[in-house]
Amino acid sequence: MSSNDTIFHKIMRREIPADIVYEDEHMIAFRDIAPQAPVHVLFVPKVDIATLDDLQPSQAGVVGRLAVAAADYARREGFAESGYRIVMNCNDDGGQTVFQIHLHLLAGAPLGHFGVAGRS
Ligand code: 5GP
Repeated sequence: MSSNDTIFHKIMRREIPADIVYEDEHMIAFRDIAPQAPVHVLFVPKVDIATLDDLQPSQAGVVGRLAVAAADYARREGFAESGYRIVMNCNDDGGQTVFQIHLHLLAGAPLGHFGVAGRS
């Protein structure tokens, strides 16, 4: 379980502003404050789970719903066919900085291949 005082919880509680693009009973989605692509949206579940490593088998639907919502968003916004990337960072080597699980949706330009920092 994550603590419920991450920056994302504050966004969910409307204690700090964010450019919210989608919300339902399960999740909230908003634009990343430091976008790594022309489109960079974060999909965050409302249930407290710190990292992917904490996800229980019974919670598989939590991540499934994030993926479905991201794909729906891509179709709605018109870039499903041109393509996009979804990413979940886990713990330090994965680059995770906010310890409430979230799915990154990146799109709007060719993203190239991904790899290990410092390697070409
Ligand atoms: P992580 O590195 O944990 O996978 O992703 C965290 C993301 O949250 C980063 O891409 C970072 O730019 C974004 N972020 C951090 N603080 C804020 C904030 O206050 N507002 C928004 N919209 N995004 C944030």
